[in-house]
Amino acid sequence: MNIVRSAMVGAAGMVAMAAGAADPAPARGPTPAHESRAIDVAKFPMAKPGVYPSEAKGAGRVRVLLLTGQMNKYHKWEETTPYLRSMLEGTGRFAVDIHTMPPFGSDLSAWDPRFEDYAAVLMNVDGDYWPEATRKRFEGLVKSGRVGLSVVHSSDNAWKDWGEWNEMIAVGGWGGRDASAGPYLRWRDGQVVRDDKPGPCGGHGARRPFVITHRVPDHPVVKGLPVTWLHHEDELYHCLRGPAKRVEVVGTAWSDPANKGTGEHEPMLMAVRFGEGRIFHTTLGHDVESMRCAGFQCTLQRGTEWAATGAVTLPIPDDFPTDKDPRLRPAP
Ligand code: ZN
Repeated sequence: MNIVRSAMVGAAGMVAMAAGAADPAPARGPTPAHESRAIDVAKFPMAKPGVYPSEAKGAGRVRVLLLTGQMNKYHKWEETTPYLRSMLEGTGRFAVDIHTMPPFGSDLSAWDPRFEDYAAVLMNVDGDYWPEATRKRFEGLVKSGRVGLSVVHSSDNAWKDWGEWNEMIAVGGWGGRDASAGPYLRWRDGQVVRDDKPGPCGGHGARRPFVITHRVPDHPVVKGLPVTWLHHEDELYHCLRGPAKRVEVVGTAWSDPANKGTGEHEPMLMAVRFGEGRIFHTTLGHDVESMRCAGFQCTLQRGTEWAATGAVTLPIPDDFPTDKDPRLRPAP
């Protein structure tokens, strides 16, 4: 085994490299199919491309742009998007504008959202590549620390050939990715390990509840929260790969081989630095049901606040899960 420690700041964020046996095959195909599903605009007016401004009241809210409208066929963005907005705005801390992208295959040459008007962008999207000028402007805003980034679950399936995006999310899965995407990130023997062994990029077993363990318990996103907690039934992503630079693995979950898992502690909550920028990446949140988990909501709220401002002011909720009892909030 060849171990190389990185220069990542923070003992718990320290990473090493290892080689070993191949992982099991991913639980679903390697390439998420993109398709524009017919969505009933009468029931969901936000399906039409455009910007849907926040109606949240109160001064001093952190402005967030929730980007959506293109998604792989496995995830119902039209259901999760309004729920994500409500769970952020419900804290009183955020005002969330929704930006619905044009359908797949549209001419995006003039598509250039005003990212600079926001403290953070929340990604609920997996879609077409952006025009180069838009990509470069977005990279610059994130890299300078002017705009934070918060990434939910299926969004880490996006844009395998966008190098800077992969640096922002640290690791991702599917979308045509393979071992060339970079190492796996695993928690072994009290530290994060970068594992370069060959194998798939992306997988999960059946949706089940599983325990999240915080590995950097003093990170602002999770400071003061229970170190272990039971997440509501969800896909436990495994075998994500990527550049994995400047990433702190804030929370992990054990991937059970009895449920097509890897037997590894896989990264679930990540805090990434990209230049001066901050990125919060949660692999949790397959659908509305999994997002009902108070632990998902709390870590997303805090992670988004950290990405936007560099600090967390949100209080710890009374209903945060224990390691035995999931805590569910009402569906929208
Ligand atoms: Zn999913």
